[in-house]
Amino acid sequence: MLDCAIIGGGPAGLTAGLYATRGGLKNVTMFEMGMPGGQITQSSEIENYPGFFEHDKTGMDFMDTWQKQCFHFGLKHEMKKVERIAKTGEHFTIILEGGEQVEAKTTVVCTGSVPKRAGFKGEDEFFGKGVSTCATCDGFFYKDKPVTVLGGGDTALEEALYLSNICSDVYVVHRRDAFRAAPPTMERVEKKENIHLVTDSVIEEAYGDAMGLQGVKIKNIKTDEITDMKNTGLFVFVGHDVRNEVLQDENGGFICEMNDWGQVIVDLSMRTSVEGLYAAGDLRVEAPKQVVVAAGDGATAALQVISYIQEQA
Ligand code: FAD
Ligand code: NAP
Repeated sequence: MLDCAIIGGGPAGLTAGLYATRGGLKNVTMFEMGMPGGQITQSSEIENYPGFFEHDKTGMDFMDTWQKQCFHFGLKHEMKKVERIAKTGEHFTIILEGGEQVEAKTTVVCTGSVPKRAGFKGEDEFFGKGVSTCATCDGFFYKDKPVTVLGGGDTALEEALYLSNICSDVYVVHRRDAFRAAPPTMERVEKKENIHLVTDSVIEEAYGDAMGLQGVKIKNIKTDEITDMKNTGLFVFVGHDVRNEVLQDENGGFICEMNDWGQVIVDLSMRTSVEGLYAAGDLRVEAPKQVVVAAGDGATAALQVISYIQEQA
């Protein structure tokens, strides 16, 4: 039986793994269905993690050393998707894709969040054929071409900055005239001559053909005017949904208390309403959705896991 099962290998899961193994637990496995690193590996930059101030490094570069450090201290990684978690008496059963089951004394859920779809016509049809949620992955396809970005938060504006260094012009479409993005980011955006802010506007339709996206129709919601932009790249950054499926029971309910938005309710020690079950990072209530916070959550949860196992012994 595992001392601790960690579900998800982003900043929260990796840090939980580091603290649990370095804190003396011998049998800790992190179940991460992809490569460890989490959402930040999709980012073209990170400049707000204390002590890391290298402008030419991507989110992928940033996370590279985290896993090496964890594995050095004994964390094991299973590249498997967890279907769900069940509490069986005093311990947990981790049910993996394909039906394999693993028992664990404690579980830390760090499954994070996924990009939301905006819901405009053509979004699903052209997803992966011009519509993207990853500038680092797809920006280069539009080298020296104009692209459209949808959203007004930190992600949209930071990725618009990244794209502005590759693409000829970046049109940022936002449904209001005030942006959520941090003021320093907005200042940098405003200094970029090839970023154009298209406010009070929504995407009416993304259209194309068998070759992929051919353009977007943008509607000004104050004037109803429609502008047809022949940009073949559209980057959608409209927020995230929490990934809480692993906490669902067979009846569609949840095994621990959640709020109305599907976020896990935890206390300041990352304890859920179920003994021995912890949640850390973007999927918990009031998560600021920052790497530094997710890492802090992971460390807090792991320290609690160690105390819990000692108390149970
Ligand atoms: P995640 O990073 O989402 O990791 C969750 C992991 O769990 C994923 O790797 C996923 O594959 C895995 N997983 C999910 N479900 C399962 C399952 N069923 N079985 C197995 N594995 C599973 N924050 C900052 O502080 N600074 C920034 O500059 C910054 N820039 C960002 C730029 C972009 C483009 C994005 C998308 C986010 C950015 N963020 C930034 C936010 C930051 O990335 C997140 O807050 C952080 O990654 C959350 O960490 P996490 O460990 O909670 O979850
Ligand atoms: P976000 O802050 O939730 O912003 C989403 C944006 O998309 C908002 O501007 C929203 O408009 C718009 N939007 C939402 N649904 C839409 C729809 N259906 N159609 C059109 N527009 C829509 O999401 P985010 O930018 O991904 O950031 C998520 C979290 O990660 C935030 O807490 C953010 O601070 C953090 N983050 C931080 C950094 C950093 O610190 N450097 C970088 C990236 C992300 P409204 O404004 O009108 O609601």
